[in-house]
Amino acid sequence: MKPAIRVAVTGAAGNITYSILFKIAAGEMLGKDQPIILNLLEIPQAMGALRGVAMELEDCAYPLLQEINIFDNPEQGFKDVQYAMLIGARPRGPGMERKDLLEANAAIFSAQGKAINDHANREVRVLVVGNPANTNALIACRNAPDLNPNQFTAMTRLDHQRTQGILGNVLGANSKDVKGVIIWGNHSATQFPDLHHVHVHGKPALESVDEAWYREKFIPIIQQRGAVVIKARGASSAASAAQAAINHMRDWALGTGDDWVSMSIPSDGSYGIKKGIIYSFPVRCNYGRYEIVQGLDVNNFSHEKMIATQNELLEERSAVEHLLPPETAARMEDPFGRANTTEVTQLDDECLRAGPQIVKTDRVI
Ligand code: NDP
Repeated sequence: MKPAIRVAVTGAAGNITYSILFKIAAGEMLGKDQPIILNLLEIPQAMGALRGVAMELEDCAYPLLQEINIFDNPEQGFKDVQYAMLIGARPRGPGMERKDLLEANAAIFSAQGKAINDHANREVRVLVVGNPANTNALIACRNAPDLNPNQFTAMTRLDHQRTQGILGNVLGANSKDVKGVIIWGNHSATQFPDLHHVHVHGKPALESVDEAWYREKFIPIIQQRGAVVIKARGASSAASAAQAAINHMRDWALGTGDDWVSMSIPSDGSYGIKKGIIYSFPVRCNYGRYEIVQGLDVNNFSHEKMIATQNELLEERSAVEHLLPPETAARMEDPFGRANTTEVTQLDDECLRAGPQIVKTDRVI
């Protein structure tokens, strides 16, 4: 049997996690033969609800789920974790300005970044889902001076999958045959869903749809999809966000196969995008690493959109600049530097040296 992998999930009593946790435990993220230890984190007020979720996980009797641990502090919660999914975030309250929201989350994600830096496995892979996800990921990354910046990512996979799903439907194709989608930039309304490299059954998508329809209708449909789902069902798109987070981590860990995916990662200057921000690029993953797909043509229309969403991320960074440790700024200049020489070192952890353990129910109730 493989050694168990320790996965931390924050906001673990929330809506998105109510889908994610059961998928992770069933082996949908890291493989059907991969035992899992779950470290679930919540704020102190939500620990009661979290206990209920943990009980339900136990009640599923998942063969792969070796331990369920619940925490109300990041220092213990991130100890030895190999995957960290940061989903809990402060929602926008009444009268809250965007800057207030950025600052409230900056406090949460800087504490989490520090705790991950000090306590997680050295090869930890971090995915930020809690919004504003890209800037929250930057804050966590900048507060983790001992880790590689490229260990911190944010989620644009939902936008990527929305593009595949909706375009596939329009063209009467299965979403798996919609290949070459790119989401550039921020997970926000400025994101740029790029169809210029999309092929459906080998045929360029932009030969099958009207260019004006793509620019004027399709792009806003993807950019506004979250709001439209909320309006239609009276609640946010939690299940699709959960599926996207699972797919993001699965592909990062196990590889992307014959297509690329969109991941928000520290910019290394590719495609002229400024360094120092977490920006969504097309990436291929293999052997637990990712690399940006290079050499794609970018026309004037695309370039303008890519810069607009970059500029929004630069503005978000300015709003929290005073909370970013200046000494970690230079590391963002070479986010891929050391990573190309590292190897996965899961076996370094004390918990894994101890070998597989039976479920410890006393930790839950
Ligand atoms: P959800 O589980 O619905 O959402 C969690 C976060 O994911 C939000 O920031 C949300 O952003 C974001 N998100 C990203 N993509 C999507 C998407 N497609 N659809 C919906 N959300 C998306 O929130 P809940 O309120 O149900 O749960 C959050 C949990 O986090 C709570 O249990 C709370 O106790 C916890 N929490 C933890 C904190 C911490 O760790 N310190 C701080 C605050 C809360 P958006 O708001 O823009 O929808």
